[in-house]
Amino acid sequence: MNQRAAKAHSLSLAEKLSRLVQFQTVSSYIPEREDDAAFSALLASLPSLFPNVDTSLETHKIGSRAMLYTWPGKDPRVPGAIFCAHFDVVPALNPETWEQPPFSGTISEGQVWGRGTQDIKVLMACILEAAEVLLGQGFSPHRTLHFAFGGDEETGGHRGARQIAAYLQGKGVKASFLLDEGGSIAVKMLSFARRPLALVGVAEKGYMDVKLESVSLGGHASMPPRNTAPGNLARALAEIEARQSPARLTRTLKAFLAALAGESSPHYSLLFSNLWLSSPLVLAAFSKSPATNALIRTTRAITMLQGSPKENVLAEQASATVNVRVLPGETCAQALDGIRRLVERQGVQATAKHPGQEVEASSESRVDSEGFAKIKEALAISHPEAACLPFLFSAATDTKHYAGLTNDTYRLTCLPQTTEDLKGIHGINERVRIIDMEKCADFYKALIQSL
Ligand SMILES: [Zn+2]
Repeated sequence: MNQRAAKAHSLSLAEKLSRLVQFQTVSSYIPEREDDAAFSALLASLPSLFPNVDTSLETHKIGSRAMLYTWPGKDPRVPGAIFCAHFDVVPALNPETWEQPPFSGTISEGQVWGRGTQDIKVLMACILEAAEVLLGQGFSPHRTLHFAFGGDEETGGHRGARQIAAYLQGKGVKASFLLDEGGSIAVKMLSFARRPLALVGVAEKGYMDVKLESVSLGGHASMPPRNTAPGNLARALAEIEARQSPARLTRTLKAFLAALAGESSPHYSLLFSNLWLSSPLVLAAFSKSPATNALIRTTRAITMLQGSPKENVLAEQASATVNVRVLPGETCAQALDGIRRLVERQGVQATAKHPGQEVEASSESRVDSEGFAKIKEALAISHPEAACLPFLFSAATDTKHYAGLTNDTYRLTCLPQTTEDLKGIHGINERVRIIDMEKCADFYKALIQSL
């Protein structure tokens, strides 16, 4: 073992994650606000943290926001697999409110603290650690593996994932499956489930912002017309909240419920395994809470409002933004049409707020695929207490850029999460339990060994 390898070997996985957290790789839509040096420094630190990976795998660095490792398999004819993560983070807006500074990487009471410990430097560390350990044992995979790390997932992935995908496409890569961040191992989140549920995202909702505009003549507020632009807009908004888009059981949700039937109390099990009869009941029950409601329909959230700039001046124009998450099987254009039909009667116009930047809902990956089976088998080794379920993931990830490289895309952040842990993601006091992180690395070890 050379000196560098010996030094890295003495670092624990927690210490390696702590180092990664200390690079302030905060991504921004305004590139000048990013600390380019932090991104470069993080990538430059990887060889010393994971020396076996550095010496044994092919590395392709594309700019300072994309890093790809390729681990050639013994049989290059067998389709390989792609594991993804990202090394950028969102800002920590009020650092003084954190129990430990957000970029300290403090290790205390069995946890690593800071931005990226849940989303999602932790996965980068776990993937690389799994490979590092296996390389140290002389292991080499049967098929080719790619580890793809983007540095701008939080701002769209155009400099990271998109570049890596283009590179792999240029090489003619066609993978059996791809695994990125996504659902977690939900602990006590669904009251009727008897054990923790590993929620593997097999589909992802679409995303678009819709701008609503209402115009009127304006003028002095002392002699107002009966209907003002903000008034008309308000009626249109009330209509949007009163009439949700129709509820529907997607293929993904049916697969989720079928798997859940085996994990639930008898009453729910009966409900979930007889959907031909019970789907109206299930849809009604799921409509009741925001988290489950988001699984059965395109959601419309009113987020921004604007009217007159002055107290005594009538607004010539009033506007609002509706953030729309589109259910697989529906297009953004259809979702926009649905809103138009609701607001037109009030004389309100609905248009795409950022034309061309809509993200369509993903396709729904198979649950009877090789990839899903491999993920399930690896979970049974690393997390035997958890059940593995296909799920609809409602946030956006880098996976959209990789769609051309594989037919089966999965999204799992292999860490147990309670409702309390979820608050740290993009929030305050983000942290990860060391034991959980080690089990996550075990998951990747088992997965790599099966490939
Ligand atoms: Zn993320």
